[in-house]
Amino acid sequence: MAIRIVTEANHCLQCKKPLCREGCPAHTPISQVIALFKENKLMEAGKMLFENNPMSLVCSMVCDHMAQCAGHCVLGRKDQPVHFYEIEKFISDAYLDRMTTEGAKPYNGKNVAVIGSGPAGMTVAFILAWNGYGVTIFEEKDRIGGMLQYGIPDFRLPKTILDRYKARLLELGVKIRPHVVMGGDLMIDNLFRDGYKSVFIGSGVWRPSTLGIEGETLANVHFGISYLARPASYVIGHTVAIIGMGNVAMDVARTAFRHGAQRVMLFQRGSKSPASPHEMEYAKLDGAEFIFGKSIQRITAQGPVFKNSVLNEDGRPIGVEGEEEFVPADTTIIAINQHPKDKLVNTTHGLEAGPRGLIIIDENCMTTREGVFAAGDVVHGSLTVVHAANDAKTAANSMMRYMEKDA
Ligand SMILES: Cc1cc2nc3c(=O)[nH]c(=O)nc-3n(C[C@H](O)[C@H](O)[C@H](O)COP(=O)(O)OP(=O)(O)OC[C@H]3O[C@@H](n4cnc5c(N)ncnc54)[C@H](O)[C@@H]3O)c2cc1C
Ligand code: SF4
Repeated sequence: MAIRIVTEANHCLQCKKPLCREGCPAHTPISQVIALFKENKLMEAGKMLFENNPMSLVCSMVCDHMAQCAGHCVLGRKDQPVHFYEIEKFISDAYLDRMTTEGAKPYNGKNVAVIGSGPAGMTVAFILAWNGYGVTIFEEKDRIGGMLQYGIPDFRLPKTILDRYKARLLELGVKIRPHVVMGGDLMIDNLFRDGYKSVFIGSGVWRPSTLGIEGETLANVHFGISYLARPASYVIGHTVAIIGMGNVAMDVARTAFRHGAQRVMLFQRGSKSPASPHEMEYAKLDGAEFIFGKSIQRITAQGPVFKNSVLNEDGRPIGVEGEEEFVPADTTIIAINQHPKDKLVNTTHGLEAGPRGLIIIDENCMTTREGVFAAGDVVHGSLTVVHAANDAKTAANSMMRYMEKDA
């Protein structure tokens, strides 16, 4: 491991215009981090990574690196690119345990409420707490992390990482209130009543999209994101049919194999999968079967029923044809998409959402309600950890400017 990452670091050309950085949605200063690492300045390198993106350790493990940093590295044009994420993982893993609160600003008397403890909420909490704001996170679930805790499976992202993040947040003075549903138990108006100067919404997308077809309420039918939250509480049998072929569907398939499934089939209406190639490759290695061009018609207690899709020249479905085809399966899992729950919008005066329930923001991440900011999946729909963290950084900086004006 040590030899490998040193080799990777030595491989880097220290480009004047590093394309790797352009390929990273968080614009990670990759060449500078590598230079510090080569000078044995591990903590300086870790600090640089953390300040740029507090989710650096998570990103080193779950980003689609071939679509981002490694995929853009100039060396990859003719040979192997620098696999920076391996170096990043080593540095950020060490830094997360050794970072201190030295340099953090003292409490400035202003309190901020953060709704949701996913990558967006955690990023805002780290930045604001570091800058002297009193931060309270309101989280609906019992543990922090959002989709890192309840979506991405343990075999891809060990949950102990989130305990370490929690410890660092607490050290910075962040307060965490678990089991509180904002827009249910408490309202955003209650937060302003109690003196919070601004509010951040990072509540993500937790409502599974439904198919609107017969059979969705049967006992053998489940939703992918609900299944991933607690796979051990489901009895799925030996044969599992998954409707959908995106990244979430890949995690459902791989988790099902680890919870008793012998055969897992994924069905897609069109001729292409929206999943990242490497996620699909892993699911294939686990034994998943991919079946394209099938449109779901209904679900029975014995399995789903399809018709062949009629596809246009781009491979998109434009209709169905032929006879119905029944596929025997003990369990059918629907993993097509997610969108936000509407509690916050329904209970907050002036807070507006677009047609898909996504919260509307301006260029400073402020919502249509004064003093309320938002970022992450709840704004742009299901995307990635690095996008949530990067947008949350913009939101945190805007919140500080907003609260300074208010001084
Ligand atoms: C199965 C799966 C696999 C994924 N794999 C990857 C991957 O490999 N790489 C990658 O980059 N991205 C991946 N993603 C996407 C990534 O996890 C999300 O883009 C990211 O977590 C979004 O962060 P967020 O903070 O906006 O929201 P979330 O992570 O969804 O966090 C939102 C938090 O808000 C809480 N909350 C919601 N409503 C309320 C309320 N009313 N009151 C209080 N709390 C509330 C929720 O409980 C949750 O903790 C995956 C997603 C899923 C579902
Ligand atoms: S593009 Fe590749 S070689 Fe150039 S600085 Fe980035 S990682 Fe190093």
